Amino acid sequence: MPRTLDPELRRALAARIRYYNEMGIYDFYRRPPAEHAEDVATAMAVDEAGTTVLELKLYPGEEMSPRKAAAVARAIPVEENIFEAIALKPEQSVSDPVKALKIIREDLGDCTRCVLHKQGRKQIVFGVGNPKAELMFVGEGPGADEDAQGEPFVGRAGQLLNNMIKAMGISREQVYIANIVKCRPPGNRTPEREECETCSPFLMRQIAVVKPKVVVALGAVAAKTLLAMSASMMQLRGRFYEFRPTGVHSNDPNWDGCKLAVTYHPAFLLRDPRQKGEAWKDLQMVMKELGMKAPAKDAL
Ligand code: SF4
Repeated sequence: MPRTLDPELRRALAARIRYYNEMGIYDFYRRPPAEHAEDVATAMAVDEAGTTVLELKLYPGEEMSPRKAAAVARAIPVEENIFEAIALKPEQSVSDPVKALKIIREDLGDCTRCVLHKQGRKQIVFGVGNPKAELMFVGEGPGADEDAQGEPFVGRAGQLLNNMIKAMGISREQVYIANIVKCRPPGNRTPEREECETCSPFLMRQIAVVKPKVVVALGAVAAKTLLAMSASMMQLRGRFYEFRPTGVHSNDPNWDGCKLAVTYHPAFLLRDPRQKGEAWKDLQMVMKELGMKAPAKDAL
């Protein structure tokens, strides 16, 4: 059913987003509501019968989560999707991926956007690897070793991920590795949904720069955040998803498309090594997609 965005509200929302862009804010996530109702910009998508199919409120200082942005993108036709049309990121005018990633890192700064900044992190763990990698691994968040060293997947789980990569016939340096959240959750707890939604726009920008052919989501948190869907690992694994990071236009000539596969997080495989065979099946599926030669027998 065709849907339209009220033109007046669209203009108001576009002006607000431009204002934020001019201040260097490109990613939008949720913040507590404003005290004054007049400070809240509201956009509604309505169907032909006048029924509201989506109501979007944008508060002062609020930024939009990938989930919320995806909901907007689904409800509003592409030509009316002002969030895609207006919020061009600074790195999008840079062709060198090393420089583009540096811009994103600088944009992240000494980030205090979510509570994880004050829960004992030693440093932000941005991401590591080949800035032109065909294959990218995305985990959940840094652990103690990663927090200490400033690099993702360097602890025991990282050793297993290295073995997984090696079993595929490539090296760690050939892939790009990052996490959904860039600061260590205290006690290695699972990051909260709000933390994932706040941090993941930066990961989306990293993916848009690296342009991998395949992203492998390691574990349920990575899979659910990237795909903006909720399902069990059993339902998520065993297939490819067409993936386009939030902020990349559907008709972007610089985006060649990307497939996303889901497998178990190496930390889970350390706890339950019986699942390694299943993880290897996932990686073999990825290797086939990338035209890589599969070893003759189970390698994990
Ligand atoms: S987890 Fe991400 S959003 Fe939260 S403080 Fe760290 S870098 Fe910022």
